[in-house]
Amino acid sequence: MRVLITGGAGFLGSHLCDRFLAEGHTVVAMDNLITGNTDNIAHLAGHPRFSFIKHDVTNYIFVEGPLDAILHFASPASPVDYLELPIQTLKVGALGTHKALGLAKDKKARFLLASTSEVYGDPQVHPQPETYYGHVNPIGPRGVYDEAKRFAEAMTMAYHRYHGVETRIVRIFNTYGPRMRLRDGRVVPNFIQQALRGEPLTIYGDGSQTRSFQYVDDLVEGVYRLLFSNEVEPVNIGNPGEFTIKAFAELVNALTDNKAGVVYKDLRTQDDPQVRQPDIAKARRILGWEPRVSLEEGLRRTIPWFREELRKRGELP
Ligand code: NAD
Ligand code: UDP
Repeated sequence: MRVLITGGAGFLGSHLCDRFLAEGHTVVAMDNLITGNTDNIAHLAGHPRFSFIKHDVTNYIFVEGPLDAILHFASPASPVDYLELPIQTLKVGALGTHKALGLAKDKKARFLLASTSEVYGDPQVHPQPETYYGHVNPIGPRGVYDEAKRFAEAMTMAYHRYHGVETRIVRIFNTYGPRMRLRDGRVVPNFIQQALRGEPLTIYGDGSQTRSFQYVDDLVEGVYRLLFSNEVEPVNIGNPGEFTIKAFAELVNALTDNKAGVVYKDLRTQDDPQVRQPDIAKARRILGWEPRVSLEEGLRRTIPWFREELRKRGELP
């Protein structure tokens, strides 16, 4: 297959490039590098089945030659990023998804949308099944991301229903691993680098809010299976292991032997979800998928990568 991956120079997009190349496919990565970095795909330069196009997908997308699948992953994803880039986030979710769907229709390619657990907002149903419609504040600061993704889902279903495009929607829950930007502001990179520097970890609020963290390899496997399945409606892909942010901080400190503890800061964004845990019964049933990497194991694989990055930058001996 010849596959286009938008957001291909980002954290998840670059891991997907690796996976599709490893399976023998040809990959075109497209990215405007607004939150991504070519360092993530530098190891693929010169690969005979890989190419990169620098392009903002909110503008008309031109790709020469046939395409069999489009994985639409372009979008700021960290709350810090999308709070700094509110218009770009709305545009890539709306206009970018429209352009990518138009391309899929033209090329008769299968289309997979990277949606998010944020479509459930600050949920009142716990854990969250795909049938839950969510609890989103459209005008709050996080609305720029949540509503863009909800619009993107609606647009994807419209292209499926009206144009017969073969579409898939994955609702991704907090995913972490190597290649996350050191300063993307999400809790995993923040805590790991603070711990490696011997600093206290910054817990926003009282740390009683929960998240369920998934290692990147599990996400990639879920996306791969979903693309080749027949499921048109959204599928949650996440790890149901749920931790308070306080317990997560303690685990990071234990695994890095950081003695500096934690510090509490009043920095929670408005509408920061109090709980989050995927109901993955549907993914188990239709994809035969479930996560394999525990949080502790995933962190053990991720921490050395961050240590190396900090060393390269001269921030660690
Ligand atoms: P990321 O910021 O590392 O990657 C996003 C990529 O999209 C970046 O390389 C960025 O430069 C690119 N991009 C943004 N706007 C663009 C535009 N207009 N044109 C072209 N490229 C553009 O973030 P990530 O964690 O890899 O997230 C990738 C996707 O997965 C996003 O759509 C995000 O919403 C979704 N997602 C991620 C998570 C997670 O936990 N990592 C959870 C839910 C959903
Ligand atoms: N958080 C924190 N300290 C940090 C960064 C984030 O306590 O240095 C909290 C944040 O308030 C949220 C949770 O960790 O409750 C997860 O935040 P993240 O930015 O990773 O993504 P989200 O799941 O909110 O999209």
